[in-house]
Amino acid sequence: MIRTKNISFSYTEYEKTEELDSDDMELIIAAREAALNAYAPYSEFKVGAAVRLESGIIVRGANVENAAFPSGICAERSALSNSISNHPKDKPIAIAIASMTEEELTDGFPSPCGSCRQVIAEEESRTGNNIKIILSGKNKTQIIDGISSLLPLQFKRKNLQINLP
Ligand SMILES: [Zn+2]
Repeated sequence: MIRTKNISFSYTEYEKTEELDSDDMELIIAAREAALNAYAPYSEFKVGAAVRLESGIIVRGANVENAAFPSGICAERSALSNSISNHPKDKPIAIAIASMTEEELTDGFPSPCGSCRQVIAEEESRTGNNIKIILSGKNKTQIIDGISSLLPLQFKRKNLQINLP
């Protein structure tokens, strides 16, 4: 039997930053500040990410490029590597992402690349928490409740068929 299945997802779009709650706005501001620290001489596309942990701590990351292009890292993975390295037991509950070109925030939403989606998925799997994903454009914001919407049918530890703690 052949069955076609559909996957749908929803997200919330905010037309104005004033409509956001204060925690989300604080995280967006942290992501925007982090973008200013990006090292992006090749793309000149600066990205900042800010992860909120359960304790309330905010951990930042920025994209760091390299002349050997694959050696660079995105802001999202930079921030999550930072939070896991420094606060391994404090679980992420949200990540905000902002991007800029020529010191101006981009109008469009900085959607995470495939590698970052996979890393966010692993972190959700490791901690058992959904991570709210906040994509911040210059004016508009999109909020997505968890990575499964951005990465359906994801490859997880259970696909390895090994038991981990
Ligand atoms: Zn990425």
